[in-house]
Amino acid sequence: MLVIKCPDCSHSFVWTDTMPLKGSCPTNGCSWTYDVHVELKKSVLEKTSSKNDSFRCPHCKNQIKAKWTTCDQCGCFVAGSKSFKKTHIFLYVAIILVLLSFVYRYRF
Ligand SMILES: [Zn+2]
Ligand SMILES: [Zn+2]
Repeated sequence: MLVIKCPDCSHSFVWTDTMPLKGSCPTNGCSWTYDVHVELKKSVLEKTSSKNDSFRCPHCKNQIKAKWTTCDQCGCFVAGSKSFKKTHIFLYVAIILVLLSFVYRYRF
C-alpha cells in the first residue's frame, strides 16, 4: 500500500497491490500516469531526508551539522532544540555574576 500524490491534479490516492504497477491517475479528466517504482523511491527519499532535517536551527530553520553547534546562517548558539544569540549568552552570564555577588554579600 502506498499513498501517491498526483502532481497534475494534486489529489492523493492509495495504490494497493491489486492495482497495476503503472497506471493513470484515478481522478476524472486527469491524464497523469504513475509508476509505483518511482513513487516508492520518492517516499523513501522523503523519509530519509526528513530524518536528516532533525538538525535545524530553531531560530532561522537553517540546516546545521550537529545538535550542539553554532548556526552558520544567523550565528546563534544552538543547544538541542534551543537557540541563543551570542550576545544573550553574555547577558545571562552577567546576570548570574551579579546574582552571585549579591549572594556572597549577604552571606558574609
Ligand atoms: Zn491526477
Ligand atoms: Zn540560525
